[in-house]
Amino acid sequence: MQVSPHVQAVQVPDDNPMHPLYTNIFLVGDGPVMAIDSGESQDRYKWMLRGYLAATGRDQIDLVAITHHHFDHSGNLKWSAETLGSAIVLPQASVKFLRGKLPPAEQLRFVDDGEVIALGGAEVRVLFTPGHTPDSVCYYLEQEGVLFTGDTFLGGSTTTVGDLAAYRQSLRMLAELPNLQVICPGHGPLVREPRERLLELLRHRETRDQQIIGVLQAGRSMSAWDIMLKVYPGLNKRLRRAATGNVTTHLKALQDIGRVNVHAGKPRPADPAKAKQAADRAKYRVGVIKEAEKLQKVQRQAQLRAQETAPTAQWITPPKYELLD
Ligand SMILES: [Zn+2]
Repeated sequence: MQVSPHVQAVQVPDDNPMHPLYTNIFLVGDGPVMAIDSGESQDRYKWMLRGYLAATGRDQIDLVAITHHHFDHSGNLKWSAETLGSAIVLPQASVKFLRGKLPPAEQLRFVDDGEVIALGGAEVRVLFTPGHTPDSVCYYLEQEGVLFTGDTFLGGSTTTVGDLAAYRQSLRMLAELPNLQVICPGHGPLVREPRERLLELLRHRETRDQQIIGVLQAGRSMSAWDIMLKVYPGLNKRLRRAATGNVTTHLKALQDIGRVNVHAGKPRPADPAKAKQAADRAKYRVGVIKEAEKLQKVQRQAQLRAQETAPTAQWITPPKYELLD
């Protein structure tokens, strides 16, 4: 899909409840081309990137930039470097999260806050926007008003936040960008009224603070899980842990400004017998899957061999043909 003169969107269907509708990869530039995010390490993302090359008659994607280290954005970095000839664009802060998942150092290009990446007729500015993760980065193509936000701002859902104070500051900075016209998020549809939506999200976060304070005023001390159940009634159950993470983030920020006090919890001691049982079960499952994959390969080879050899299983003596006089 063409987003603006220098931006194309590749939308890959996704059924994770955290990622409504689809996960996005964006391609920017007309000279060298840069992909923003690389998707999960699954074939469908690789097919999409190969499909883009086929559709545009290109033989490589020059740069692959990530918006943060999470696996659904950085899953194909090594693969892109090896098979698409890409250099990987990332902040230094991502490296410690991506050990073993990056190509050799000569294929890495580290970027700083405010740095400009030139892509033929398009110039993309790097913006450090910590909050969702400490290494979150947005990319801004100001001339076309297109902002790439990764998981800092999503289309159609709210994101999880690690550091709320940093996150609020990042959102305020994004809302002030000159010429901002459209947000290209890491997941979900494009956002066409970006400034309004960024300010709305800031207000939403303040409302959450007030809701949490309200719940705590009504009750005694409560766990983050119990607060989540009150603040998010009727939430999709698969999102409960993530929502509890967000409540915890708010509580931490409220604690930092002296509004909330925390009574330390008592962790459950690890049970080595249970841990061993779980590890054994996981090992067994991996074994079965490997065996099944091996049998599938054997079966395929047998089918191929059957096409090459005489049908002796079918005939002791096969029919024979000779010419009549
Ligand atoms: Zn994501």
